[in-house]
Amino acid sequence: MQVIIHRGTHQIGGVATEIRTASTRVLIDMGEELGLDEDFVPAPLSIPSPETIDGVLITHNHGDHIGQLTALMPLTPIYMGAFSKEIALCTVRDNRHLADRLSSAKCFAPGKSFFIGDIQVTPFAIDHSALDSYMFLIEADGKRILHTGDFRLHGFRSKAMPKIITKLVGKVDLIITEGTALSRSAEVPVTEGRLQRMARDYMDKYEYVFVLCASTNLERICGLSKAVPRGKYFICDGYQANLLELVEKHYGSYSPLYRHIKKTVYGSNKLEDFVRRGFLMMVRDNSKFRQIIKEFDPAKSIILYSMWEGYRTRPGSTLPEFLGLVPTWATLHTSGHASASDLLKVIDLADPDTVIPIHSDNPDALKALCPQRKVVILNDGEIWEA
Ligand SMILES: [Zn+2]
Ligand SMILES: [Zn+2]
Repeated sequence: MQVIIHRGTHQIGGVATEIRTASTRVLIDMGEELGLDEDFVPAPLSIPSPETIDGVLITHNHGDHIGQLTALMPLTPIYMGAFSKEIALCTVRDNRHLADRLSSAKCFAPGKSFFIGDIQVTPFAIDHSALDSYMFLIEADGKRILHTGDFRLHGFRSKAMPKIITKLVGKVDLIITEGTALSRSAEVPVTEGRLQRMARDYMDKYEYVFVLCASTNLERICGLSKAVPRGKYFICDGYQANLLELVEKHYGSYSPLYRHIKKTVYGSNKLEDFVRRGFLMMVRDNSKFRQIIKEFDPAKSIILYSMWEGYRTRPGSTLPEFLGLVPTWATLHTSGHASASDLLKVIDLADPDTVIPIHSDNPDALKALCPQRKVVILNDGEIWEA
């Protein structure tokens, strides 16, 4: 088997990994590059001989993993989680070309192996800020490769991944792991459960709690909805309500976190009740929500910032002005990516002969993190013999 990281050996996002045998080529993710500057233009992803790719596996539906699927040949099969596909189709509505590619995707089931040519693929559901995220066990030519995708061990589903690696994956020859945290702070990440309790505390202090959060951070949003005490509202708009209904449809049977989400769609006809009883409202930075926030007494209001810090501090960001709509705002957020110590935990559980970091702008830091292991730092496009 050969491994080629077409992009992502030295950057976060925009990733594409190829694993191939003599007869089969499989890609994992085809992402759009992430950039914070206003004038940033993402580079197109260039994969040699795309007409000979046999299939593309999608770890999850974040743009830095699916945004360049349009570079594929029209008939190349795409494989992804069923829920991930439905959410992606909602979020890329304005990109007809990408939506067309995604609508043709075949859906796999967690834990169920399938073949693409002579490569066996087993997807396993893991914990990340996109619900329905996967790692892949890839087996061919007598070798076993674990590709982690983006993951963390501090969400509500944090226990799954270590258990799956121990019980179902076992030792692998190679792990291709995300390494986002290698260049970020060494602080121990706050858990999603802790964020829930913090939200509840804010609701005790403020009548009107607005939470600025990506509409697709659905595990967070489900957690917040469950933190709302009896008598208060959990409010969102119709778009968000639709996404939450998809969660209930796909995941409702798995956990109480994902079912009976008590949501009320915002309508000005209910304004009096909202004022009287108080609420937690999911908001996004647009003119409609700016108007809504101004309807309520600012002295009794708080905005909770529930997104990555970089979006707020980047040049030209409108978020500081949005947060300034009320006198008080606070951060209520945790990363979608594993801390360095959790990266190490996952690597040790899979006990690979070789480690290749991707999705990191400081891959060399992995060598210091596990000095006793063989860590290979590739360059984009380089061929590595597994
Ligand atoms: Zn990513
Ligand atoms: Zn991601």
